[in-house]
Amino acid sequence: MFDWLIVGAGFAGSVLAERIASQRGERVLLIDKRAHIGGNAYDRHDEAGVLIHQYGPHIFHTNSEAIFSYLSKFTRWRPYEHRVLAKVDGMLLPIPINLDTVNKLFGLSLDSEGLAAWFAARAEKREEIKSSEDVVVATVGRELYEKFFKGYTKKQWGVEPSQLDKSVTARVPTRVNRDDRYFTDSHQYMPTDGYTRMFERMLDHPNIKIMLQTDFEEIRNEVDYRRLIYTGPIDEFFEFRFGKLPYRSLQFKHVTLDRPWLQPVAVVNYPQTEAYTRVTEYKHLTGQRHEKTSVTFEYPCDSGDPYYPVPRAENMELYKRYEKLALAQKDVWFVGRLATYRYYNMDQVVGQALASFRRICAEVAPPKNRALASAVAAE
Ligand SMILES: Cc1cc2nc3c(=O)[nH]c(=O)nc-3n(C[C@H](O)[C@H](O)[C@H](O)COP(=O)(O)OP(=O)(O)OC[C@H]3O[C@@H](n4cnc5c(N)ncnc54)[C@H](O)[C@@H]3O)c2cc1C
Repeated sequence: MFDWLIVGAGFAGSVLAERIASQRGERVLLIDKRAHIGGNAYDRHDEAGVLIHQYGPHIFHTNSEAIFSYLSKFTRWRPYEHRVLAKVDGMLLPIPINLDTVNKLFGLSLDSEGLAAWFAARAEKREEIKSSEDVVVATVGRELYEKFFKGYTKKQWGVEPSQLDKSVTARVPTRVNRDDRYFTDSHQYMPTDGYTRMFERMLDHPNIKIMLQTDFEEIRNEVDYRRLIYTGPIDEFFEFRFGKLPYRSLQFKHVTLDRPWLQPVAVVNYPQTEAYTRVTEYKHLTGQRHEKTSVTFEYPCDSGDPYYPVPRAENMELYKRYEKLALAQKDVWFVGRLATYRYYNMDQVVGQALASFRRICAEVAPPKNRALASAVAAE
């Protein structure tokens, strides 16, 4: 008999397994249908020995000291500030758009004030900012929108940006200075030995049993457990009762090249004609030294593993119907990006899992004879 069955060994499931096992002294069975732990953050050495991210580049960034210090129990960190270039009109230009982007693209020598005026002269007036197109054209105008955003967003989501919620392109800021960092969070790091090693340390506890290549469906009636934490797709849990929640998927083409480097930064975006959206070169992220280099091309598509919830109002409404069912379940907790149908960064999922753990501690008394560590109260 397990105290808890946890479905999914990504950040959501693994953080909860670790907390429950180490702080409540309860027995956890953690399952994943994939052949590995770590969920989408899983990394591995490829045949050439280069550390790559199986499901595309994962860069850790957060403003939360609590989340950073929690994960620091399981890894050391390598400082890394992410910089992205976009290939536009044959040039490699900084994205988010900044002073250098505009000056290089148009052969100008504007200063910050000049760029603010340049944007203002091109920005289109909008009564209300609703779509992903509105956000960009109302800030930098149509030409930059078409060069940097329109093609990329259409490839990424399979629909026109005018049909997508503003949140998609609002994630990418516009700057009038020369700051070319992709993120501005106070903590920006990569785990020194990789994500998988961090998960291995997290889950190395005698109260945690891991079963891989195991689908929840297969064992849901076979295993004895008291409570369930589910981090898989919420619509699947309820057998798609109200219909399928739409996701955008990706195909990853991993390639090793017989040369030390391919590109000047970890990620180059391709917003114009190529079928792929971006190319990632991992050694920039990991700091690994190797005579070869491994890169990943990303091709967005409709079918395949669910990666990105499609942010449209009707999809949120459908999710809300599933959420109502979820809230009525007894002894089941829904945590993580698939179970709550939201695009979350890793730190947000860790935060959500730690908050769920606090809720669990408030609602569920630990079994008798297994002392609740005093740390629980403090966290
Ligand atoms: C291409 C890409 C790039 C990203 N880059 C970044 C980044 O740079 N920085 C960042 O902070 N975040 C990034 N993210 C987001 C990050 O991947 C997520 O925040 C994080 O992985 C979410 O963790 P999770 O546990 O909720 O979900 P997941 O990691 O998806 O884990 C869920 C697990 O549940 C398993 N599962 C599902 N259904 C079942 C079932 N029925 N039975 C058994 N197991 C099941 C799945 O196999 C999976 O392993 C990126 C995401 C993508 C797709």
